[in-house]
Amino acid sequence: MKSSEIRQKYLQFFQSKGHTLVPSASLVPGNDPTLLFTNSGMVQFKDVFTGRETRPYKRATSAQRCVRAGGKHNDLENVGYTARHHTFFEMLGNFSFGDYFKRDAIHFAWELLTKVYGLPHEKLWITVYHEDDEAWGIWANEVGVPAERIIRIGDNKGARYASDNFWQMADTGPCGPCSEIFYDHGPDVAGGPPGSPDEDGDRYIEIWNLVFMQFDRDADGNLTPLPRPCVDTGMGLERVSAVLQGVHSNYEIDLFQHLIAAAARETGVQDLGNNSLKVIADHIRACSFLIVDGVIPGNEGRGYVLRRIIRRALRHGYKLGQTRPFFHRLVADLVGEMGEAYPELAAMAERVTQVLRQEEERFGETLENGMRILDAALEALPKGEPLDGSTLFTLYDTYGFPVDLTADICRERQVEVDLDGFDRNMEKQRQQARAAGKFKLAEGLSYAGVDTVFHGYDTLQAEGKVTALYVGG
Ligand code: ATP
Ligand code: MG
Ligand code: MG
Ligand code: MG
Repeated sequence: MKSSEIRQKYLQFFQSKGHTLVPSASLVPGNDPTLLFTNSGMVQFKDVFTGRETRPYKRATSAQRCVRAGGKHNDLENVGYTARHHTFFEMLGNFSFGDYFKRDAIHFAWELLTKVYGLPHEKLWITVYHEDDEAWGIWANEVGVPAERIIRIGDNKGARYASDNFWQMADTGPCGPCSEIFYDHGPDVAGGPPGSPDEDGDRYIEIWNLVFMQFDRDADGNLTPLPRPCVDTGMGLERVSAVLQGVHSNYEIDLFQHLIAAAARETGVQDLGNNSLKVIADHIRACSFLIVDGVIPGNEGRGYVLRRIIRRALRHGYKLGQTRPFFHRLVADLVGEMGEAYPELAAMAERVTQVLRQEEERFGETLENGMRILDAALEALPKGEPLDGSTLFTLYDTYGFPVDLTADICRERQVEVDLDGFDRNMEKQRQQARAAGKFKLAEGLSYAGVDTVFHGYDTLQAEGKVTALYVGG
């Protein structure tokens, strides 16, 4: 089954169950200026869940384009390292606004997976929140999942991807337990079942998160049952496509195989299994769709995230030996894969190509020299030492290497980076600039990208400038 068919079947199934088809919202959230990017299907319905907004329907379904490359959900560092994470992906979802609750949500999910998609039920594993006996009972007694494949998940045990199966929109407001569905890719892949010490592996892959918004949390942390509980679910299209196409990695699905082949064509690489091709294929989607939604490369905020993703892609191209602009040429291939589902992409292809090309030309001037500096520094580095802050800063300041880009290259070579040292260099430069009176720009403008660069969005979140929804685990 092609991914386009899988998307179609999902939306049709939920429409047949009385859900209204709602188009994907923009990656730039229209209803929340503090959220960096739309990172799940529920974002456009946030106010509907809280009751601040009403819609003419109580059930909705959507295929939502999502980006997780900043804020609370940042999967940028996972791309190229796990089989299941992208910066850009599509989330299929069904939503109940005070209409059906746990029972229907669970039965719908099971019917779709086992009847419509035809998945063998013994490959499916379930997690529920440890106190959620109701959900456990529905899975065990009504659906008939054997008890040993229904796992109660308590508090986060510190594993990198561990989920605590309790969802909340923010510190206060709607919240509730989740139930997640995992697919067992079999003993050939390393990793333990959800909740086990080695759940970080890629054997048991989470495909679907069912969130049961059941409580309202007040400022003191008290939970009051919501008069009309809601349901919010999210299933990654690429992950379920991998399952249905009988492959383990998202990067082996039809859509990605075509993009990877295109990246290979543009970089002259023969080996389609090359990891850099995967990263480039991932990044062309994120970058193109961000530009479609009005983000342009820049030095702060969303624009800086976009610039960082583009530069990472170009660096991977460089690693493959491509020193000339190539990335923008993949836009046409992406349109071939996704233009039908997203006509706005097809309509804006020319503009996207142009923006990317410009950014490629700009960075192309310094990428090669910067790489030479970095290679020399790494060569001279004593074993076990981190890359020093002064080199990080020079690369950032003179060669346009965002610090996460340098860190990513270092990670490939098992070298740590001295981020504190980078901070100190940055502060020194800021003070010198201030003393020289050079940077008398308006507040928020003066070199604004800088803070964003190395503290990442977590700092912005801490400062209350950017908050992100906590979605799922
Ligand atoms: P994981 O634990 O694997 O990082 P998650 O718990 O963060 O996933 P949710 O927030 O529950 O994911 O999102 C709902 C669904 O969206 C997931 O079950 C998965 O199918 C999909 N999904 C989440 N993050 C990504 C990603 N970075 N790339 C592709 N699909 C994703
Ligand atoms: Mg995650
Ligand atoms: Mg989850
Ligand atoms: Mg998870």
